[in-house]
Amino acid sequence: MKKHNFSAGPSILAREVIEKTAQAVLDFNNSGLSILEISHRSKDFEAVIAEARELFIELLNIPQGYSVLFLGGGASMQFCMIPFNFFEKKAAYLNTGVWANKAMKEAKGFGETVEVASSKDANYTFIPKDYTIPTDADYFHITTNNTIYGTEILKDIDSPIPLIADMSSDIFSRPMDVSKYALIYGGAQKNLAPAGLAFVIVKDELLGKVSRYIPTMLNYKTHIAEGSMFNTPPVLPIYSALETLKWVKANGGLVEMEKKNIAKAELLYNAIDNSKMFVGTAEKEDRSRMNVCFVMKPEYKELEADFLKFATAAGMDGIKGHRSVGGYRASIYNAMPIESVQALVDCMHEFENQH
Ligand SMILES: *Cc1c(COP(=O)(O)O)cnc(C)c1O
Repeated sequence: MKKHNFSAGPSILAREVIEKTAQAVLDFNNSGLSILEISHRSKDFEAVIAEARELFIELLNIPQGYSVLFLGGGASMQFCMIPFNFFEKKAAYLNTGVWANKAMKEAKGFGETVEVASSKDANYTFIPKDYTIPTDADYFHITTNNTIYGTEILKDIDSPIPLIADMSSDIFSRPMDVSKYALIYGGAQKNLAPAGLAFVIVKDELLGKVSRYIPTMLNYKTHIAEGSMFNTPPVLPIYSALETLKWVKANGGLVEMEKKNIAKAELLYNAIDNSKMFVGTAEKEDRSRMNVCFVMKPEYKELEADFLKFATAAGMDGIKGHRSVGGYRASIYNAMPIESVQALVDCMHEFENQH
């Protein structure tokens, strides 16, 4: 039976990317060697990381003066690397959920950290909008897509101070204005590659301004100077990331990705909004195009587990909601074809008709 992979992360990758990765594991570039057993400083791998960097710049239209880094440690390592490199007196964070909190916790270890606004009281079902960014803070941190709650900041906001964004789960899902950001980072395992890799896009001129000693591995300048090769980078995920970037480019780049993502999200949200049984959890204006969260209406609550079983039996994988939200979450990242979203919608209709 065909499986439709709605997993939140690690998550669906384009079939082509998986096949190319499998091929490189068996025989990389017809070298007779596996990509798993070659030096990261070999010419062939240097070409991989260089091309991945170039495609980041091309697809995201990254202006001059920014560096692109491929690092280990996931997005979570960035939660502390950011204050190490940017925190001098004060930091400001927008609290939109669990990941924002984890990021904020690390900043607090460095000193005064302001929570500019929060939607915690509403279990993070919306993005706070009426807030003032403190101009005396060193940076303002946002989480553009809140993977757990299905909310998203779709517009690149204007910030009077350096803007830092966790884009783990919506990078490459739409065209964006990188010039508005001081730093963009994320784990690769949602929209880009297998787990084990974090990407960082950082504006060079903003570095080197803090007075503390920064541990070598946590200093962005170390990795910029060495082209992400200060130590051994996550070789295989970088290879898969390159294949994903090639796939994005071959499929029309970010303009086309966004079109498809809008169509997929509309298809599923429309089904939810027109349903007698299901209801979305996020405020409509803040709904994510990547993670669609919904629950059973109270009058159908007792069918919650039944639908999960029904959908799973029909090949829908990974639609159980995060434990802090409950219900269901369908993650429909770039690589998810609209046919799979349609299959989920059909499955929802079928279940509704049976009850
Ligand atoms: C998954 C996720 C993370 C955590 O990523 P790791 O690579 O596991 O550290 C952080 N932020 C967001 C928005 C995420 O979706």
